[in-house]
Amino acid sequence: MTWEYWLFALPGILLGLYAQMKLSSTYNRYIREPVASGLTGAEAAREILDRAGLTNMPIEEVGGHLTDHYDPRKKALFLSSENYRSRSLAAVGVAAHEAGHALQHKDAYAPLHLRMMLVPVTQFASSASIGLMLLGFVLGMAKIVLAAVVIFAIIALFQIITLPVEFNASSRAKVQLLDLGIVQPQESHAMSRVLSAAALTYVAAMLQAVGQLLYFLALFNRSRD
Ligand SMILES: [Zn+2]
Repeated sequence: MTWEYWLFALPGILLGLYAQMKLSSTYNRYIREPVASGLTGAEAAREILDRAGLTNMPIEEVGGHLTDHYDPRKKALFLSSENYRSRSLAAVGVAAHEAGHALQHKDAYAPLHLRMMLVPVTQFASSASIGLMLLGFVLGMAKIVLAAVVIFAIIALFQIITLPVEFNASSRAKVQLLDLGIVQPQESHAMSRVLSAAALTYVAAMLQAVGQLLYFLALFNRSRD
C-alpha cells in the first residue's frame, strides 16, 4: 500500500464513514417519530404490495439491524424486527423502499435485472479479489495487476448499477406512501431524509469501488511503460 493507493481510496472511505454516521443518526431520530397513519412498516409494505397485485408475496421478519431487503429469487420481502413492528416514519420509509424493489421486479425494471445478472459474477470477483495477493506469487506482477483491473471493473460496474436501482426504489416508495395516504404530505420531507441517508451509503460504496479500479488502472498503465 503506497500513498498513491490512499489518494484513490480515501474519498470513498471518508464518504463511507460520513454516510454511516449520517444514516445511523437520521434513522435513530425518525424511528422514534410516529407516523400519523399509525401503520407499522410491515403493514405499509403490505398495502403497497397488495395495491400492485402482489397479494401473495410474503413479508417476513428477520433479525439484525437494518437487514431489510427484497429477495428477487424468493420473491419475498424481509424486514428487520425494528422496521417490521415500529409505527414510525423510518420504519414505514424503509419498508416501502423494499416494497419498491418488488415493484421494480414486477415491472421488469431493466437496471434491477442487470443487477441480478451481475450478482454471481460480482460474488466471484469479490472472492477473487481476496485471493489476488496469493495469486501474485504464481502469476507475476504484470498479470496480477491486469487481473485486479478486471475484478475491480466488475465490482465497480455492479456498484454503479446499484445506484439507479436504489434511487428508483425510493422514489417509488414515496409515490406509493403518499398515494395510499400512509404518509401525509407534511411528513414526506422527514421520510425523504431517511431514504436519502440510506442512499448515500450506496454512493460511498460506488466511490470506493471506482477508486480501487482507478488505482489498479494507474498501476496497469505504468506496468506497460
Ligand atoms: Zn434498496
